[in-house]
Amino acid sequence: MPSKPPPLTNRPQRKAWKRSQLEPDTRLRGRAGMEQRRRRLMAEPLCRACAKLSIVRAAVVPDHIIPLSEGGRDDDGNIQCLCQEHHDAKSKAERAAARQRRRP
Ligand SMILES: [Zn+2]
Repeated sequence: MPSKPPPLTNRPQRKAWKRSQLEPDTRLRGRAGMEQRRRRLMAEPLCRACAKLSIVRAAVVPDHIIPLSEGGRDDDGNIQCLCQEHHDAKSKAERAAARQRRRP
């Protein structure tokens, strides 16, 4: 018969890092968020960044031009649809910029 695991109450309590405490995030979630994502991709089905390079590629991600974490709004004027590759590159650059800003 398996023994019981040690009680959780004896573990040191770590304060959970809550994204919502640091970054106001007004993004729609659940069914409403999925519908909004679908509507935006229907409105702009091709990657905007690829189009600037004269490449025709399907967009798969509605991207916030100014990230919500930097005060960007979750409205259609702040959305561009991107392919996964461009979205990943933009997200990586935004994370690097955020790290730079947090450095003392
Ligand atoms: Zn692209």
